[in-house]
Amino acid sequence: MRIAVIGTGYVGLVVGTCFAETGNTIVCADVDQKKIDLLNGGGIPIYEPGLEELIRRNVAEERLSFTTDVAQAVKDATVIFIAVGTPQGDDGSADLQYVLAVASTIGENMNGYKLVVDKSTVPVGTARKVAATIASKTSEQFDVVSNPEFLKEGTALDDFMKPDRVVIGADDPRAAEIMRELYAPFVRTNKPILIMDPESAELTKYAANSLLATRISFMNEIAQLCDRVGASFSKVREGIGTDARLGTSFLFAGVGYGGSCFPKDVRAVAKTARDHDFEFKILDAVVDVNERQKSYLVEKVMRHYGGDVAGKRFAVWGLSFKPRTDDMREAPSLTIINALLAAGATIVATDPEAIEEAKRHLGDRIGYTNKPMEAADGANALLLLTEWNEFRNPDFDQLKGRMQEPVIFDGRNVYSPARVRERGFTYYGIGNDSGK
Ligand code: NAD
Repeated sequence: MRIAVIGTGYVGLVVGTCFAETGNTIVCADVDQKKIDLLNGGGIPIYEPGLEELIRRNVAEERLSFTTDVAQAVKDATVIFIAVGTPQGDDGSADLQYVLAVASTIGENMNGYKLVVDKSTVPVGTARKVAATIASKTSEQFDVVSNPEFLKEGTALDDFMKPDRVVIGADDPRAAEIMRELYAPFVRTNKPILIMDPESAELTKYAANSLLATRISFMNEIAQLCDRVGASFSKVREGIGTDARLGTSFLFAGVGYGGSCFPKDVRAVAKTARDHDFEFKILDAVVDVNERQKSYLVEKVMRHYGGDVAGKRFAVWGLSFKPRTDDMREAPSLTIINALLAAGATIVATDPEAIEEAKRHLGDRIGYTNKPMEAADGANALLLLTEWNEFRNPDFDQLKGRMQEPVIFDGRNVYSPARVRERGFTYYGIGNDSGK
């Protein structure tokens, strides 16, 4: 199949590359000239494990190419994926300007039947809006289907190639059939392709992200309670995670969720609810709890230093919003670092992949190094903010020797409180301060 993927970001690039890998001919189009030049020069604009190699192979075999000529990409394709951003608007709603701009471009360049696929995360009713926009520009035949994406940055290739399920919102059975054919290579282990109406497909994506975010905020509140009542969060987590009804995933406490999806998607659902005269009380609380959680580690730091961190130097390990990505969008590290800088502290940070992205957000207001031990040199405390594997087993004796004071604020509960304390550190976790 000849496919155009419009929007070559974290999602578009993975989707395009994976469909090329199964033998389709893919053109990835983007309005960002720098991104396309980089890809055409053999580079890759994001960090995603395994992606670079897969892109290289599919480009070499001429199944994958990149262009800024969106109009031509539309003309040449039968199936067109819309994978542009849907950032948060001022009122919390999803900003559809990029999706609808692409819909206009598609309408203006129709030269026969096209199947248009909404891959971006969009509010209920968007497939109909996209269809209306295209229809206002052409009398050619087309279908619009909703096909939300569930990949996670850091494991995006595996998630896309081996999905738990594929959700397709299609009114037209022929359109649904084309989608089935396209996804058949990825569901060989009998994972379901769920065909439903576009509205249900659109809401499925938001419901899934909102429920995951709810679990995170819930566990973060349990952790805060653990610190206050002297319970151990790790023990409580284990105790409830072994209940088959609850399961073990998404039970971790930390410094709050971030990234390009949960924050905006939860707010978008709450806004959709308000637009329909419905107060989605749980989601409003999920947002509030997450905001509060981002300050929780800073509160611990301030308390440890008697409310004054002016002149203190902190080592930050981990900047990206989660491991195995360079994505810094809404990363909790930004809130924490900004709060400590505002209180007069200095910071040297390290991250295996996100330093360049972090510089775009923080500039030269902090120091950077790609060596974790160097970041710790002369530090009054270490703040662990992203649980990259690289940070899990440091040489604690060397670490202690390099730091001015052996204090660890573990924002991801990576270390065993008992073991770290045995080695002479003062340790704070999230819900693990009881030391049990
Ligand atoms: P992104 O910001 O990384 O990429 C979007 C790309 O679209 C950019 O490269 C931008 O230049 C391009 N673009 C904007 N307007 C365009 C236009 N008119 N024509 C062509 N290109 C245009 O975004 P992303 O993280 O890939 O997310 C895309 C969508 O997928 C969002 O709706 C997001 O919510 C959803 N999603 C993201 C993830 C994730 O993990 N990042 C997972 C599932 C779903």
